[in-house]
Amino acid sequence: MQDRAHSAQTPSSPGKVRKVRGTGRKVLARPYAERTVSSLPLVFDAPKRGLPPRHLADLDPAGRREAVAALGEKPFRAEQLSRHYFAGHDVAQMTDLAPALRDLLSADLMPPLLTRVRDVECDDGATIKTLWRGHDGTLVESVLMRYPERTTVCVSSQAGCGMACPFCATGQAGLTRNLSTAEIVDQVVDAARTEAARGGRVSNVVFMGMGEPMANYARVVAAVRRMVDPAPHGLGLSQRNIVVSTVGLVPAVHKLTQEGLQVTLALSLHAPDDELRDTLVPVNTRWPVREVLEAAFGFTRATGRRLSIEYALIRDVNDQPWRADLLARRLAGKLVHVNLIPLNPTPGSEWDASPKVVEQEFVRRLRAAGVNTTVRDTRGREIAGACGQLRASHDAEVTAPVALRSRR
Ligand code: SF4
Repeated sequence: MQDRAHSAQTPSSPGKVRKVRGTGRKVLARPYAERTVSSLPLVFDAPKRGLPPRHLADLDPAGRREAVAALGEKPFRAEQLSRHYFAGHDVAQMTDLAPALRDLLSADLMPPLLTRVRDVECDDGATIKTLWRGHDGTLVESVLMRYPERTTVCVSSQAGCGMACPFCATGQAGLTRNLSTAEIVDQVVDAARTEAARGGRVSNVVFMGMGEPMANYARVVAAVRRMVDPAPHGLGLSQRNIVVSTVGLVPAVHKLTQEGLQVTLALSLHAPDDELRDTLVPVNTRWPVREVLEAAFGFTRATGRRLSIEYALIRDVNDQPWRADLLARRLAGKLVHVNLIPLNPTPGSEWDASPKVVEQEFVRRLRAAGVNTTVRDTRGREIAGACGQLRASHDAEVTAPVALRSRR
């Protein structure tokens, strides 16, 4: 399903000169209304490109038992195999299965999913961004972030994204395909293996990598279930430590509300008014601010979970004091937390983060209105931390190699 194209109005007015981050190039900092925002269509249905072969993580426990039985093996073998997979073991480590049996089961139920292209570290090793290649050559990213009190994996749910947000590298590259449930889970299993090797564990998962999770709804919800199912059926994470984000696909938010999951919903709002949000988050033309907030508040009423409002502060675009006040009015009295995100611009982009003083005033106004607000830690800035940037830099290497610190 595709929606109409979105483009900005182009009135003229003088602007200020400023440097483009990452290039030193000087540009005329045009008011938002003068920018060409996006001519990309919204794409809700992924192109019919092939998903990888079936993997045990695509199946629920009953499905895995059936699959093992179909191979002529005892159903309990499914639990043995699952225990090994979710513990991050490779086939050679499955020593409680005879070699011939382990080869048979792993060949059918554990096909290779994602191949590591590279790891890039920053923050003294506290942040590791991984670029993966799928079986069909598609590239996706995940990020492992170590904090003193938790370790979080940021996963991708789609290769690319069809939501066309103009400030986002992934959105500008379009949607390649949905990821399978197992491809999503595999990003977490790999991170858990990495952490286990150093005596740690993954505690949190955020669906804030590439893609719009609610546009790949069934696979994302199934992946959440694999993550929270206790061993041997899953990773045994707490539902409360999983954040599912959305730009506001209202029917999917209603559906998620009915799932009975105690996950946190993060709504990427980025503007409190339809006029701006229609262009900044083009899906707003389908489901406007009021409707999207109502759906999200409905999720919090049903689950008792606090809603997370994601708001990327963009210089001269959505950072005006009056927008802070309007946002505060829309959220007043609700169970919400606002995460202000200093924009991590794509090198060469005219989109830039708001100045600190503007950010502080935005925070002050929200807090003064009683809205719980923090400015998000921007992990991984020096390794292309915004979604889609590592993939973009990989593509660029074809003509311009860049020095990245690879672990493999
Ligand atoms: S910001 Fe999120 S929803 Fe928007 S295009 Fe980028 S990945 Fe998609």
